Amino acid sequence: MKEKVNLLLLPGDGIGPEVCIPVKKIINCLNNFTNIEFSIEEDLVGGCSYDEFKLPITEKVISKAKASDGILLGAVGAPKYENLPFDLRPERGLLKLRKELELYANIRPAKVFNSLADASSLKPNIVKNMDIVVLRELTGGIYFGEPRGIFELDDGQKKGINTEVYTTNEIVRLGRIGFEIANLRNKTVHSVEKANVMESGVLWREETTKLHSKEFSHINLKHMYADNCAMQLVKNPKQFDVILTGNLFGDILSDISAELTGSLGMLPSASLGEIGDSKRRKSLYEPVHGSAPDIAGKNIANPIAMILSLSMFCNYTLKNNILSSQIENAVEKVLENGYRTKDIMQKNCNLLSTSEMGDVVTENLKNILEKNEL
Ligand code: NAD
Repeated sequence: MKEKVNLLLLPGDGIGPEVCIPVKKIINCLNNFTNIEFSIEEDLVGGCSYDEFKLPITEKVISKAKASDGILLGAVGAPKYENLPFDLRPERGLLKLRKELELYANIRPAKVFNSLADASSLKPNIVKNMDIVVLRELTGGIYFGEPRGIFELDDGQKKGINTEVYTTNEIVRLGRIGFEIANLRNKTVHSVEKANVMESGVLWREETTKLHSKEFSHINLKHMYADNCAMQLVKNPKQFDVILTGNLFGDILSDISAELTGSLGMLPSASLGEIGDSKRRKSLYEPVHGSAPDIAGKNIANPIAMILSLSMFCNYTLKNNILSSQIENAVEKVLENGYRTKDIMQKNCNLLSTSEMGDVVTENLKNILEKNEL
């Protein structure tokens, strides 16, 4: 009996639909060569939804998202929507989806494929074999805490306030995901805060330590201050496996770790919530990049971030880390064989279009699945 999986595919705008075409081919290949049967439902989010319904996402799509086993999203946004009121802009569709599904855990892997180690802003020997996951809390902390606002003072000055706030539950539910991810990898978590100067950081450290000793003592837990973590990431990034941190520090640290890989078109991401009706964690997978209006419609975008988003779906939602690695290995092989899209082009390599890159990854994956290789 095949395992049935319902995927909601939201290609979105700009290069979104272009990078989704290779993913559909790969899903077709998985349906033919594995014991999983994906059914894909496709719908609108972002500017294309606004064009059709005057809304960046409809309630019907939100309901479908809640009922699905997971969502794959391309990208949203285009210059022609920039003068719309905030609530109607394409990006609001994505934010609404994250909010309605309460996707509080944002996972951003930063893996350096060896054949692209030269693309990093750091020396190749520092980043070669680097493989980090930054787990960022996404729905709490200083971006949402109250009080917030800009207030007038009696003496005519103004005061701007934001509040960093975390509760036990918010820290523990994220920590649990962090330890679970580390358990599938190299079993090390760096929990990052500023407990030296912030009470919310003291609580973060206490609750993470308690959770660790109660449920995850086999994982290696280290605590690190956020400023030191930023420095260590550019000094010796290979010391990290999973970085567990709040919204603000995660925002900054995930961008630093992304830059270490040197190529935006290669970076996938996942946002996870609680276990839903489908008995799986609610989840949304998307490339880190946006809709790239400057190259949209030219069939030159790199589809690998989108393909690796599917690989993350297999790992985190289907809990099938073998299939996830097989997809990653197909990408790695294609890069080793010198195939490149324009954004990652190097000397003596073969330049491919978006669809051609999709085809060679699919072909390599087919070979790996047929031989049942890892
Ligand atoms: P962007 O990520 O779309 O593009 C930045 C640069 O990287 C561009 O030069 C682009 O051509 C290049 N690039 C991005 N993805 C690529 C790929 N797969 N292959 C090759 N090159 C790639 O960021 P931006 O230009 O700041 O934003 C463009 C639009 O995307 C805006 O409307 C923005 O709001 C939206 N956006 C959406 C998301 C999302 O959907 N999650 C994220 C970021 C930005």
